[in-house]
Amino acid sequence: MLSRLKFLRLAPHRTNVLRAQRRTNCKSVSSFDDMLSDAKTKEANVASPAQLEVPHLIQQHEYKFNEGKLYHGFQCERVERIPDFDLTSYTLRHEGTGTELWHIDRNDANNVFSINFRTTPFDSTGLPHILEHLALCGSKNYPVRDPFFKMLNRSVATFMNAMTGPDYTLYPFSTMNEVDFRNLQRIYLDAVFSPNLAYLDFLQEGWRLENKELHNRKSELVIKGVVYNEMKGAFSENSLVFGQNLLNNILPDHTYGHVSGGNPLEIPKLTHTDLIEFHRKYYHPSNARVYSYGSFDLTKTLSLIDKEYLSLHTRVDNSYSRIPLQPRWSQPRHVHISSRLDNMGAAFDRQNQIAIAVLMCDMTNIQETFELKVLSEILIRGPNSAFYKSLIEPNFSGGYNQSTGYSSDTKDTAFVVGLQDLRVEEFKKFNDIFSQTICKAMKEGFESQHVESILHNLELSLKHQSPHFGNALLFNSTALWNHDGDVVSNLRVSDMIAGLRTCLRQNKNYFQEKMNTYFVNNSHKLTLTMSPDELYEENFKQAELEMLEQKTSALDNEKLEKIYQNGLKLDASQKAAPNTELLPCLTLSDVKKSPNWPKLSIQTIEEVQTQICKVPTNEITYFKCLFNITGLSEDEVKLVPLFCNIINDMGTTQHDFREFDKLVLSKTAGIDFKLNFVENVEDAKSYRLSLMMTTHALDKNVPDMFLLCQDLLRNFKLEDTDRLKMLIENYISNISIGIASSGHLYAMLGAAALVSNASKLKSLLSGVDHIDFMKNFVQKNNTADIRDQLKSIGTKVFNKSNMRVAINSSESYLPTALEHLKNFLGTLSTLEKTNESSEITLLHPSCQQYLMNIPVNYCAKAFFAVPYLHKDHPTLRVLAKLVSAKYLLPVVREQNGAYGAGAKISSDGIFSFYSYRDPHSTKTLDAFEKTYEWLHSESKIDQQALFEAKLGVLQQLDSPIAPGNIGIDYFLYEVSQEMFVKYRSRMLSITIDELHDVIERYFKEKSKNYGKCILGPANESLELETSQKWKIIA
Ligand SMILES: [Zn+2]
Repeated sequence: MLSRLKFLRLAPHRTNVLRAQRRTNCKSVSSFDDMLSDAKTKEANVASPAQLEVPHLIQQHEYKFNEGKLYHGFQCERVERIPDFDLTSYTLRHEGTGTELWHIDRNDANNVFSINFRTTPFDSTGLPHILEHLALCGSKNYPVRDPFFKMLNRSVATFMNAMTGPDYTLYPFSTMNEVDFRNLQRIYLDAVFSPNLAYLDFLQEGWRLENKELHNRKSELVIKGVVYNEMKGAFSENSLVFGQNLLNNILPDHTYGHVSGGNPLEIPKLTHTDLIEFHRKYYHPSNARVYSYGSFDLTKTLSLIDKEYLSLHTRVDNSYSRIPLQPRWSQPRHVHISSRLDNMGAAFDRQNQIAIAVLMCDMTNIQETFELKVLSEILIRGPNSAFYKSLIEPNFSGGYNQSTGYSSDTKDTAFVVGLQDLRVEEFKKFNDIFSQTICKAMKEGFESQHVESILHNLELSLKHQSPHFGNALLFNSTALWNHDGDVVSNLRVSDMIAGLRTCLRQNKNYFQEKMNTYFVNNSHKLTLTMSPDELYEENFKQAELEMLEQKTSALDNEKLEKIYQNGLKLDASQKAAPNTELLPCLTLSDVKKSPNWPKLSIQTIEEVQTQICKVPTNEITYFKCLFNITGLSEDEVKLVPLFCNIINDMGTTQHDFREFDKLVLSKTAGIDFKLNFVENVEDAKSYRLSLMMTTHALDKNVPDMFLLCQDLLRNFKLEDTDRLKMLIENYISNISIGIASSGHLYAMLGAAALVSNASKLKSLLSGVDHIDFMKNFVQKNNTADIRDQLKSIGTKVFNKSNMRVAINSSESYLPTALEHLKNFLGTLSTLEKTNESSEITLLHPSCQQYLMNIPVNYCAKAFFAVPYLHKDHPTLRVLAKLVSAKYLLPVVREQNGAYGAGAKISSDGIFSFYSYRDPHSTKTLDAFEKTYEWLHSESKIDQQALFEAKLGVLQQLDSPIAPGNIGIDYFLYEVSQEMFVKYRSRMLSITIDELHDVIERYFKEKSKNYGKCILGPANESLELETSQKWKIIA
């Protein structure tokens, strides 16, 4: 799947949508389930190398492998300690094949393994992407249908995926369990080096012609295929279309001129033979790179790879996959493209985008790349940057677009700045401002305090610890490694910062000289513009039809018969019982032990309940402040997401917004606000709303951190209505992005909204309803009125009577941190205590569709079951996993062609079904309805199925937590560590009888409170096909 990363950066096609990839339209709302289930998707946010995060220091002196020595066919070429991240890097090379193996030895339980290939397509048929799918469809030692998906349920992996970028394909996983690590390692290695690449799998995953009615050879032919649908869905998101075109047009001469994921209209040109040939050439060990990270024994890995795979091959020269530098243009270029009209986006005349991209240095020049990254931040990020002042503040657009930033994942790096939601008439203005901004920055230079604040932020991110360090390191290094860059030296971030500081000291014009090279004297400059076309969808359909016509017109009877037979064969193979016994699986004894976390303690400081966690934090103190806002009126509550978004951007009575931003950036990692929605997890009868402020800082900056928080809470200032207006308009532009890429989440929110008043409010605060609400609200109210309402929220909320705090700090610094906390709390005012919670009421069943101008659907059904602390909750959670893996994936994905499908239960007691990038809608809803029939009629629930479902839940329960986040479940949701341990062991002890018992009680009768929701194109026969009334929201 394509994620919404800047397109010139990593553009992975993720194969795994089992784990809902949450990206709410509204960054400031969260719920308990984010904590429970989405923790492990977060590492996908690719940080820059400088943002990698470091663990607690443990000294290590002896090297495990020595330079020049041979280990299982691998020669150790380079060993280096990297103190910044407390790791040892080992570079080894296989003597026979030349395969490079990079091992990062580090005292971290979350081990990672990955095999990467340099894959450089020369057409847009999606070859590397379809191959990535096919490699995971069965191999020599594991001739199982879809072993990858099957392993998702037989492992406790903290991450399992495969991605296709513009010039590489990688297969990474991570796990904390060594048995699991060895199991997955065998499957991954066999998948890439000995895949079956069967013809039927090609038809299923890539593309095929098939009779519309499978059993009627006379019925019309249609095009089907998982990747075919996936890419149709991916290009429903306009920001992705823009990013893809930017990449194709600024680097047009080699592989980047093509769509590695596949252009739906080109995909049907691919043949099975092309695919096999591509695999033979690009998946050769000499074109592979192997990555391993963590504390497990490397020699076992080396021995396995050498014996089973590499020793069977000889070395080939892999220069065929090398990517040359793009020849520079002598003239700037301008390209215009059209896009789908987004009916949830801005007004038609404002739905345009523009960007200027300039090509910069060779990415393997790591110091230069690093410095250009810093320069880009200085030019773009926040209210002190030149482009923010010149492009954003005049407020003629919806803010920066998704492509803005420094792109360093391609062989030539690029600087991109662009705007979204502006009028065509403003294109010229954008161009003029671009040149003027560069001139002005060249003339005036940069304020040293601003530069320092950016460098401080980089340094702080080096100390911040993430539980997914090994994955982040891999993702950050992949592109550079792929171009034979020095990935080891690239980890010496402190050295790079020091190098830059020296240059800046010695040469006052250092950055201006860089700008001269890359902005002034650079004719390799692309201006890309994009405007909506009302006929876009129609034109695509027409082109698809023509392609189909072309494919089918030449078919003789023999070929038609073959297509018919293949359809039947594929159907039969999809319905055959899976032969999963060939796959390894963990056992209960492998996973019995519950993770061990540091204990929390609670104190009252200055009348405020304070949660304290003593934990090694690597010289950082983490601070969270929670304000109960249930006392706000309903009208006020609806504005809280906006309030969270702007409150830290307006400055205070002590410091204007520029000054405040600079101070925050030089002393902390930022001060962020978000809305929390907490249902009572015991009885689901009430809910609380709260607003959380989070920040962290180096221990030495903790006094300043508290002063800044105090300043913001006591002296926030919203007087500047022009600025406020701009922030509000940018907010509205941003919340409508990403709906098509995370449609299943919006569909689930939309379905749940029909179940209870609380979920309805949640959808109004973060679902599609929020976009509508905000657009209407801003139309009806002037900025001064909005300002007064936001102000009133701040005045009512920011006081210590309705507040709790949490602090995570190291043993040695904690007493000092608590002293500063005490002073901080002493300065806050007391107000009357407000309502603790609101009541939840359940609603009558109903259905709604949000009409979207896209070629795929997202379907959901939700019903009320029981909340987290009810004894049936863990059973229902296991059942949701089982239904996802054994029923919904085979039927909705494999047979009906949706890209993903699943079921889940959230802590508030809502049980949901969903589909993702689905060619059907009512057929899928029908499959949801038939869950009981399936569960009841077939005796598919055996011990193995039950255990696999438990492992699936365990992956979520045991996912690693960052030190700064330990205790957050208790802080936000009052789920204590004891409750968690009880929940976990109850979950592990569930029997088949108990499972059948909940099936009878929750699935046999139709629930009294349920809702159905579709996001997708209009369907005139919706009511007829479902025999239900639907509310259509256009
Ligand atoms: Zn894919």
